[in-house]
Amino acid sequence: MQETIELNTEEIYQDYNYLHAHGETAFKETVTTNYLAKRLDEMGVSYERFDDFPGLIATIGDGSRPLIGVRSDIDALKQEYQGKVGVHHSCGHDSHMSIVLQVAKYFAANPDAFRGTLKIIFQPAEETVTGAEAVIKTGKLPKLDYLYGLHVCAKDELSMDQAEAIIPDIATRTYFMTITGKTAHAGRPWLGANVIDAFTDLNERFKQIKLDTDTPYSIITTMFQAGESSNIVPDKGTLAVDLRTKTNDLMDQMQAKAFAAIDAVQGGDIKITMDENDLSPAAIPSKVAMKNMSQAITNVLGTDGLVDPVPTQGGDDFHFYTYDGVAKETTMLGLGCDLTPGLHVPGMTFDKRAMLNGARIMIDAIRLT
Ligand SMILES: [Zn+2]
Repeated sequence: MQETIELNTEEIYQDYNYLHAHGETAFKETVTTNYLAKRLDEMGVSYERFDDFPGLIATIGDGSRPLIGVRSDIDALKQEYQGKVGVHHSCGHDSHMSIVLQVAKYFAANPDAFRGTLKIIFQPAEETVTGAEAVIKTGKLPKLDYLYGLHVCAKDELSMDQAEAIIPDIATRTYFMTITGKTAHAGRPWLGANVIDAFTDLNERFKQIKLDTDTPYSIITTMFQAGESSNIVPDKGTLAVDLRTKTNDLMDQMQAKAFAAIDAVQGGDIKITMDENDLSPAAIPSKVAMKNMSQAITNVLGTDGLVDPVPTQGGDDFHFYTYDGVAKETTMLGLGCDLTPGLHVPGMTFDKRAMLNGARIMIDAIRLT
């Protein structure tokens, strides 16, 4: 183990308490952004806010390479808790911000402790999986050589004083579609085109989709609505289908097969249109980023603290930075903190001392880069 990185313990808890008490939903994080800006002002760290939505990008360094990014999400969730609807940080983004503020503070005070330039992204709207792409579209973020993110993990994945060097998020896509057919009297169905028949055909074809991999994957219809009268051939239906794969390549293969199934069902009076799609790319593992993160975890928590990546069915819009080519070598620290009962559960709680582990690991990973 190395020497312990000195942190202002009281300050990290103060930051956490303030941010925890001021949760705001996606793209409404103005009080949060103002607080982050105030704290960066105190540290003498320069930053640029986004023009059209909350969040900011802070810079430490003269612009020389490598450009090392650190990203914290900043939004919370609107939920009912103890009989009252409120906005709660039940995904732990308050702890991510508190950790990254300590990272900023450390490198503002120790600018020679790393090489290159640090770009700290306080990103809005992670929960709606739209913030990362919004940040990318502003053009305010230069192409990064490295990008590190982090997320607290539930206790059934990692315990206190444990961490993983990558969160192996999977790829997810959801398609929302409309099927249109041709209506007719139920007594003369041959004159119409029944969207329920088309849907049944499509659903069977989705179920037949196979990928050549031994990793888990799924494609299932999660919503279907059609028909309003019991004696009329229905001519309009809507559906949603959910696709999950381990990698982005497998997702592309699955998507091609799903689109082929849609094409096979269309024809005559049956038409299928795509209304909307949501997608979240899988983690794109980087050997060099993971090596730095693994080393940092070992330095801070000891060899017992470094745990093999725990499989997850989760997603994070962090992976858009790599997927869209804005960041090259990236990884997310998975931080153990005895978090119970689980993420997104109002009243979620964890061992706050884990924030000190998180800050030290992130600082060390940047020093090693
Ligand atoms: Zn989260």
